[in-house]
Amino acid sequence: MQKPIIAIDGPAASGKSTTARLLAARLGLVYLDTGAMYRACALQAERLAVPLNDSSAIEAMMDEMPLRVELSGGVNRIYLGDEDVSQQIRSEHISKQASAISALPSVRLKMVELQRKIASNGGFILDGRDIGSYVFPDADFKFFLVADPEVRAQRRVEELKSRGSEVDFQEVLADILQRDKNDAGRELAPLKKMPDAIEVDTSNLTIEEQVNVLQDIIMQKQDATKIYLAEHSGFCFGVRRAIQMATEAKDLGRKVCTLGELIHNPVVVNQLAAQGITVCDDPSHLENHTVIIRSHGAPREVYEALEASGNTVVDATCPYVKRAQQLVQEMSAKDYQVIIMGDEHHPEVIGMRSWGNGSTLVLAPGSTPELVLHSKVCIVCQTTKKPEDLAAMSAWFSTRVQELRIFNTICLATQQRQKATADLAQNADLMIVIGGQNSSNTTQLFQLCQRYCHCQKIETDEEIQPQWLEGKQVIGLAAGASTPSQTILSVFNRIKEIIGEPERVTTIGEIPLYKEESC
Ligand code: C5P
Repeated sequence: MQKPIIAIDGPAASGKSTTARLLAARLGLVYLDTGAMYRACALQAERLAVPLNDSSAIEAMMDEMPLRVELSGGVNRIYLGDEDVSQQIRSEHISKQASAISALPSVRLKMVELQRKIASNGGFILDGRDIGSYVFPDADFKFFLVADPEVRAQRRVEELKSRGSEVDFQEVLADILQRDKNDAGRELAPLKKMPDAIEVDTSNLTIEEQVNVLQDIIMQKQDATKIYLAEHSGFCFGVRRAIQMATEAKDLGRKVCTLGELIHNPVVVNQLAAQGITVCDDPSHLENHTVIIRSHGAPREVYEALEASGNTVVDATCPYVKRAQQLVQEMSAKDYQVIIMGDEHHPEVIGMRSWGNGSTLVLAPGSTPELVLHSKVCIVCQTTKKPEDLAAMSAWFSTRVQELRIFNTICLATQQRQKATADLAQNADLMIVIGGQNSSNTTQLFQLCQRYCHCQKIETDEEIQPQWLEGKQVIGLAAGASTPSQTILSVFNRIKEIIGEPERVTTIGEIPLYKEESC
């Protein structure tokens, strides 16, 4: 997992730069002073005599901006071309100019692009006005430093004095207030405290105390147990579609049942039953029903029998499974012996096989047939199997038959879930895999996790045992394609409760790492 990005925002002279620099040294991170970058732009505009109200001249200047930031040794050295301008940019005059030039979108967009590029791999503390709100809105830590204007003005006077400039307190105070106004009032990326930023008032703190406050907050959060949900988890497109089709079928006005459990998850099956959508295991007794074919599909003869008894069939077979069935049918018709790599007794495989002919064979991953009789062989596989098993079986056949066709019918959702789960398991102390006990793809995820770390498989949050979590720093969650978001949510919140952390989430989108499914 990436090194953190820490955003320190706040008004002028609130102590951001010194705090950020010292904190970076303590935490072994790199400090980036974004204000210095705007100051360099102001200096360049002045040197080239580019008026700030001439937007095309400013744009042209930004296109050629020879700005370079050197970050070695914990300090930022700012260069315009080969010239080190780190001292020149600190004058009061440049402070004012920087405030004005930073409000120009062409300047800000260029600087923000550069800041993102410099810090994109993490491990940075950036100070500025818009870091937590605009430059890195997903920063791991966001701080907003404030202090009374008089205190800020006094600090500024002392800073300038130490550099040999005598300035008037009232003038500095007026400048600071004006800069605050400019920063908060501009259109693009104005200065503002984000709701997730921690405000620290530095008016009565020494620099040492200020740095300690931020460091303590960071350490506390870093020491806390982290819970992640694999980037791709839970309901896949095929399952969501099947549930929607079943729910809509209620409106057709007949008794509705699913042929077998709609998906391998008791929570969902019970929810459907509560809506009057029952489960029927034996199609031979059904008459005048609306019958939902589940996402696993069904054998060909079942469709024929159901329709012959006056039932309406709603086919919710997952499109990936449908494609595999069609391949079995097509390739059998072209005289290939079709090998289905899968679990012989799994309903998806039983259905798939029925679209073949007498020579269609089911082989479990890792197994081989005793005899190979056909010269033309075609391999398809159960949609939830592992790609490496398909590769191994294909390699075995490739040296034993004259013609071999391989169709990778593993569905995209399965591949994404397996990859995301393996990535997470490699960095976790404990993986909890959530899904129905009879769910094939959940079992695959569980087996995958066992290669990397200690893991547990559960159906609901009630099965979590507090001792599993003891001493664990990184807990990973993964969920099969038939696991509802609600179940994942309850597991996450139950873990939070057990480890004594107050935050709860209301959607799985709030759990770190998880990405909302797009397909
Ligand atoms: O922080 P510092 O005073 O060096 O910044 C100089 C000026 O650059 C500020 O007055 C502010 O207007 C602008 N600035 C900004 N966004 C940042 C950092 C600085 O607008 N992220």
